[in-house]
Order: sequence, then C-alpha cells, then structure tokens
Amino acid sequence: MEQFEFTEHSHRRYNPLTGDWVLVSPHRTKRPWQGKVEKSGQDNRPLHDPSCYLCPGNERAGGFTNPDYTDVFAFQNDYSALVPDIPDGKYEKKDIFRAESERGFCKVICFSPRHNITIPEMEVPEIKKIVELWCTEYNAMGALDYINHVQIFENKGDIMGCSNPHPHGQIWGQYSIPVEPAKESKMQLDYFSKNGRTLLSDYLEEELELKERVLVENDHFVALVPFWATWPFEAMILSKRPVQNILQLSEEEKESMADAYKKLTVMYDNLFEVSFPYSAGIHQAPTDGQDHPEWHLHMHFYPPLLRSATVKKFMVGYEMMANPQRDITAEQAAQRLNALPKNHYKQN
Ligand SMILES: [Zn+2]
Ligand SMILES: [Zn+2]
Repeated sequence: MEQFEFTEHSHRRYNPLTGDWVLVSPHRTKRPWQGKVEKSGQDNRPLHDPSCYLCPGNERAGGFTNPDYTDVFAFQNDYSALVPDIPDGKYEKKDIFRAESERGFCKVICFSPRHNITIPEMEVPEIKKIVELWCTEYNAMGALDYINHVQIFENKGDIMGCSNPHPHGQIWGQYSIPVEPAKESKMQLDYFSKNGRTLLSDYLEEELELKERVLVENDHFVALVPFWATWPFEAMILSKRPVQNILQLSEEEKESMADAYKKLTVMYDNLFEVSFPYSAGIHQAPTDGQDHPEWHLHMHFYPPLLRSATVKKFMVGYEMMANPQRDITAEQAAQRLNALPKNHYKQN
C-alpha cells in the first residue's frame, strides 16, 4: 500500500474552532474542466451615485439624509433584522418546541465616501479608520446590557446577495450568542482550560513555523488559509498576540490589521482579475462583562469563487446532507494565492 499523501488521497480535516469536519478530495482536481473561463464585465461605477442610499448627502429610507461624510460613517439600519424594543417571551412545549424573544440592533457602516472604491484599492490609513470605527461601535453596542454579542461583518459582491456596491459592512448586536461564535467559544474555552494558552496562539505558532498556508505576515497580524478551510480560497486573519477583542489592539496593531486586510483582498482580486466577492466577519469575545482569556480575535473570509470570475462553489447535495467538501487542498490554495503579483491588477 502506498503512503498517505494530502495531495493525492481523500481525507477529512477537523476544524478545532467549531468541532466540524471537511472532506478533502484532491484527486478530483485532475478532472478535466470544460466550463467557461471568463472575467466579469467592466466596472464603470461613478465616484458618487445619486441613486445610492449610502453615498454622502443622499436620502435614505424613512426620510433620513446622509451627512457629507469624508471617511467612514455608521448609521442604524433602516430595515433592521433585530430591534431593541421586544417584550420578553418564551415558548416551550415538551422537549421539542422552543422559542424565545431576541433583542438587538443593526448598524450599517460605510467604508468610504467613494462609491466606486473597494478595500483592496484603499490605502492602509483609510482602512485603519474602518478598524477604528469597528472599535467605537463594538464598544458602544457592547456596553448595552441587552447586547452580549457584537457581530461585525461584510458582504461583498452581488453573488453574495449584496444589494449595493458602495463599500460597506454591517454590525449586528444581540442578546444571545449566535451559533458559530457559540461553538467557537466552547472549543476555545476547552482548549484554554486544558493548555493555559489560546487555541489560535498554538495554531499560529505551527503555521508560522511551517509557512505552507501563510499568505501575509506583518508585525502583528497573519493572514492564512486555515488547515480546515471549507471554501476554495477561504482565509483567516488573526492577531499574533492573543487579544480577546478589537478594543485591546494598540494603534500599531490596528494598522497591522488594516495592512493584512488590504494585502489579502489584493491577492483575492488578482486571482481571477475581478473584484473578488466574499463574506467576511470578525469573531471575538462576547460583551457579557466577563473576562474571556480563551478568546483570540480573528476575522474569517469565505469567498465563493472556484475557478474564475463566474464559476462559484455551491454548498449543495453532500454538503447540505453531510458536511462540506473541497477539491484543492488548503496548501494548494495558499500556493496559488502566494504566486500572484503583489500589486493590485488594476495598477499593473
Ligand atoms: Zn454609493
Ligand atoms: Zn471564528
């Protein structure tokens, strides 16, 4: 019997943050691909779009008007999925039916007054302003007694269901800890209780020694393709120092985070020479007033593109019924991203 190789043989990989598994089938990358390889259409968006509800000075729903903001801008979502004023409610029947009321609120944050720019095209000091706004909002929302979890996230690209191309993200705060961070909370606490170090500190140490899946390394942050990646070009940005939340970042660390965010998204855009769509979000400690030494700040990037600007990975069939599956290994994905030019393709 030949020896087991990650690059040749199907295997499952464990995600220590969630306890989930992913099936990796590297032999399938040898299948001939007969789909079209094409770039998406030219982007001719204006600097300011009078019909965009996020551009400075424009009118939004409910008669609100955006100020003439010059860098970043946050406002309460005019169509919030969560609202603060909800009566307490609980429904339980047998051990089967359970429901409970949920309070919270949702904000939208504009990354730039410029309608036609994206993160990889912005300068690091401009991106640092976004990190600073995340801090302000995490702090303010987290201080409310009915907010125990603050979810900062970004949906980019119409393929991700993002309805407006203006560069923006969202922040949702809520009473309960939602499913994904709750899994990660438990796994990180188990690890920390046993080892006295954060799970991601020990993980990062291995990755920095191996350098096989690392995409970006600067003074305080690392971007990498996690060993257990499920999306073809999934990545994670994590702090070198085990900080529990963004408020613990120094000025230098905030700049490093902005730098890693830019460099990773430049790689993404260069991969298929298209404004690369993804969902990204920050996982950090709950805002429940407790100390959480087990929590290690990180940001996930889940991009759906597989082979070109238009061929997307679908999480269907086996993925819906069993668990996620991928063809190229995490190492191969990192290799492809690392082989790209470092300048944004539009500047070449
Ligand atoms: Zn706009
Ligand atoms: Zn996470």
